[in-house]
Amino acid sequence: EMKNPGEEEFQQAVKEVAESLIPFIEENPQYKEAKVLERIAEPERMILFRVPWVDDKGNIQVNRGYRIEMNSAIGPYKGGLRFHPTVNLSILKFLAFEQVFKNSLTTLPMGGGKGGSDFDPKGKSDNEVMRFCQSFMNELHRHLGPNTDVPAGDIGVGGREIGFLFGMYKKLRNEFVGVFTGKAKEWGGSLIRPEATGYGATYFAEEMLKTRGEDFKGKVVAISGSGNVAQFATEKVTEMGGKVITLSDSSGFIHDPNGIDKEKLKYVMHLKNVKRGRIKEYANKYDVEYHDAQRPWIVKCDVAMPCATQNEINEDEAKTLVQNGCYVVSEGANMPTTPEAVEYFQEKRVLYGPGKAANAGGVAVSGLEMTQNSMRLAWTREEVDKRLHTIMKDIHSTCVKFGKRDDGSIDYVKGSNIGGFVKVADAMLDQGIV
Ligand code: NDP
Repeated sequence: EMKNPGEEEFQQAVKEVAESLIPFIEENPQYKEAKVLERIAEPERMILFRVPWVDDKGNIQVNRGYRIEMNSAIGPYKGGLRFHPTVNLSILKFLAFEQVFKNSLTTLPMGGGKGGSDFDPKGKSDNEVMRFCQSFMNELHRHLGPNTDVPAGDIGVGGREIGFLFGMYKKLRNEFVGVFTGKAKEWGGSLIRPEATGYGATYFAEEMLKTRGEDFKGKVVAISGSGNVAQFATEKVTEMGGKVITLSDSSGFIHDPNGIDKEKLKYVMHLKNVKRGRIKEYANKYDVEYHDAQRPWIVKCDVAMPCATQNEINEDEAKTLVQNGCYVVSEGANMPTTPEAVEYFQEKRVLYGPGKAANAGGVAVSGLEMTQNSMRLAWTREEVDKRLHTIMKDIHSTCVKFGKRDDGSIDYVKGSNIGGFVKVADAMLDQGIV
């Protein structure tokens, strides 16, 4: 706290991980002697820069750009860019920190990083977004490279933004290399990357359900958000026989007790990805309830999948969920559950899959995109989906291995923290004090 004053989200993330790791480190003194925990909590490099651009009216705008290069012990820095007005150093450091463990869990050779800007893409024209991305890249390009740092998308950074960013990188560097993931499939992208985080969080939930001999058939599922992760979680849950009854955005949530089926999801995708409209319009179109300025956790469900943003389930909401019969939580978003709410879920033995395990499918397929780029070939949908599914099952097994409680239940928080830590920590020991 003294080292990082005012960085609440970062402190929250480090504290959560440290709580699982400290007992483990006590039992494994090699990590303690080498101060691995202290080193892992300090970014290798932080890049902050000015992003000036000119809007459609000819006014000059100034935003701030960031890239946190957190850890490169097991591979190039890897992690998304977030464009959102709430972006600050604390949020990006927390995301970069989480990313290190998550990337390690995927079993692929990727270090951890995260970046972005306080730029708000909402209400901006395509040309404004392009000019912003070009200015952002004008600085960031010198820090990137296919073997150095490979960003991807996150909140506010989707296919459109990746295109503008990649185009500018290529122009400035005069090389066509896999320096971004989440690219379109015509120019180096991987099939299944858009689907990967939502599908992966669903596969992970399925593995958790299996520990009780169950599956998604007939399960009622509450999902928050309506962006990339939420959309494809909805698709996969529905495909597996579950019924998704909510979606949301930062304005409110819709409650559709009949379930958001394939056709309705198609409408949501058009509404959000093409029209860039609000989820409220769904309620008008399908004549269902819209709850303004509220989050979906007040509905009755078996499974909750927070897929919007950090700290979106608080302790009261966790209690309401459990009271209403929810017993599975699979985090599509990063750190969507507050520490008090996590503690409550753990105490109640909810099958609680934290983001660094449950949403690792996105970065896993990004890793597979890097592999395909290096080989200059493209795998089929089936091939990538199969690998994704296997990786999610392996992450679940890692959590079981390191997270088994005395009563036989699984502490996925502990399991994912220790499971993600060991590989990075061992690499750091091997590589000396650098
Ligand atoms: P998108 O930008 O596609 O969608 C974000 C959704 O969350 C939108 O519906 C947005 O609503 C809502 N949202 C964003 N900020 C807030 C807020 N402060 N309060 C309430 N709602 C909010 O992003 P993604 O779907 O890619 O990301 C969602 C989450 O998943 C993030 O936590 C991200 O870090 C995480 N994640 C994403 C991965 C990926 O591959 N994309 C990989 C791993 C994790 P609105 O339209 O109103 O802004």
